[in-house]
Amino acid sequence: MMDNQDLYNHLLKIDARGYKAYKDIKGSYQFPDFTLIIEHVQGDPFASPSKLIIKIPQAVAKFPAILYQTDSRRIALEDYLIRQFHQTCEQLSSRRGTGKSGLISIVKVGQEILKRTAATVNNKEIEIRFFVGLPARGRSILGRQAAQMLCEDIPNIVEQALKYQALDAKAIQTQVQTTEDADWIRQELKEKRIVTFIANNSILPRQSGVDSRALETNYIPFQSPKSLEVSFNCPNQGLIKGLGIPQGITVIVGGGYHGKSTLLRAIELGIYNHIPGDGREFVVSDPSSVKIRAEDGRSIVGVNISPFINQLPQQRSTDHFSSTNASGSTSQAANIIEALEVGTQVLLVDEDTAATNFMIRDRRMQQLIAKEKEPITPFIDKIQQLYTEYGVSTILVMGGSGDYFDVANTVIAMENFQPHDVTEKAKLIAQQTPNERLIEGGQEFGKITPRIPLPESIDPSRGRRDVKVKVRDVDEVVFGTEDIDLTAVEQIVESGQLRAIAAAIIYAKNKYMNRQNTLPEILAHVMIDIDSKGLDILSEFPQGDFVLFRRFELAAALNRLRSLKVP
Ligand code: ADP
Ligand code: MG
Repeated sequence: MMDNQDLYNHLLKIDARGYKAYKDIKGSYQFPDFTLIIEHVQGDPFASPSKLIIKIPQAVAKFPAILYQTDSRRIALEDYLIRQFHQTCEQLSSRRGTGKSGLISIVKVGQEILKRTAATVNNKEIEIRFFVGLPARGRSILGRQAAQMLCEDIPNIVEQALKYQALDAKAIQTQVQTTEDADWIRQELKEKRIVTFIANNSILPRQSGVDSRALETNYIPFQSPKSLEVSFNCPNQGLIKGLGIPQGITVIVGGGYHGKSTLLRAIELGIYNHIPGDGREFVVSDPSSVKIRAEDGRSIVGVNISPFINQLPQQRSTDHFSSTNASGSTSQAANIIEALEVGTQVLLVDEDTAATNFMIRDRRMQQLIAKEKEPITPFIDKIQQLYTEYGVSTILVMGGSGDYFDVANTVIAMENFQPHDVTEKAKLIAQQTPNERLIEGGQEFGKITPRIPLPESIDPSRGRRDVKVKVRDVDEVVFGTEDIDLTAVEQIVESGQLRAIAAAIIYAKNKYMNRQNTLPEILAHVMIDIDSKGLDILSEFPQGDFVLFRRFELAAALNRLRSLKVP
């Protein structure tokens, strides 16, 4: 194997030559402390940056095994190293020429602790995958700068960010223990018959709509009402108390601007663990919770929305409903049915993003527009059947209608950002002021029909290129000639999740779509493969920017692919 000196000399030698001469540096180099693998070299200074891998033997990095013995701990440590690497790069690297020249970077992360391909820790070594913009002026190689980056900056980053001795041992321990406790709570939720837990003293509000870090001043910490308080005896922190939202139907009420949506948002993201300092470290939700909203304009392919929508004008079928431009109510119905199709146990709905005519139909409207003339059976008439027949709970933010008091098991009022248990009061009001609605939900919820996606309807190719996929932030996947719009899929938090999802669609197509497997079967196979073999099975070459996703978000992407066909 060549060493760092060979690399250094070679880079000086190709100084001022055409950019293509960089291609030769692909390969492995032995540095004194680690191995540097140049996995992929970019074609020009404006292309996606080059892909590199560092492997540091554990004998050099010296992380105590206790920090990575279990899945929870290992993922927390890996996450910590990615953040550390990122910080050190910010300090060291600077633009040194054209395009992305001179930048050393790693996958972009937010507040969540997630399994990512950028870092792997085991007994043998630490592996970090990252990106380098190989420097150029115009299109000619800046050899000296490249040598500096690869042979000086990178060893410095390794020194400062990837060796245990150089790091804050206390901070690592906190991250590892916090993650372990949160995972432990998540596992215990069912036992306590609750769907989500919000620890006392959690900080739920964020700095702004575009900054998801905790509000630092003037926030009111969360405090559970006594009647709904539960406690967990966690492995590291010991006793943690907070609000446990019971299984069943929960309505969150309260005046405008009193913190309802902020609470629901925290619950939505409680499917993930959060870094220490986030404020939501111990907001922990059922891992199958799915946020449901209206999403007019989306495409829907062959979904049986008949539990909610029947007898459309022009005799359009609703047990096999397709639309290229769904309405608010049909899109919300499809979002629910699709989540049920792949096994959600908890639906999360916020009135701010729901279709009113899907949520309620009051007595007066029932009198004016007969049931026969209204295709929609409102959610209020199906919400109990969902729980009794399918065991699916719902948490609903609803400040605008008391009709839901009749069907709720728990009613929580947010007042000045604090929760109160107003279940009894709401039930009393429901008795004393009957709404006189007719129940429209029928005998049962209705059938959930799993669909069979047809492999030939999924095509990632574009023109002469075999596979063309690209992602934009957390909102869009360009898949072949199609754009998949995921703006309304609110539980995707990193663009690395979208990259992995795009690869997983191709993997699922090639491996499990055979015109017989149903969508839930296909996704179960894919998730089991990822779980047992890692995200790397999704691609031919090692990727540094894949981040773990849930089957619900993978389903969401497939469901929004406009070319999708089912029999
Ligand atoms: P609602 O949905 O009830 O209308 P929101 O959840 O949108 O209210 O909250 C309104 C505002 O109050 C938001 O700007 C939010 O960041 C802020 N907020 C929410 N919870 C708290 C809290 N505990 N302390 C301080 N501010 C909060
Ligand atoms: Mg709101």
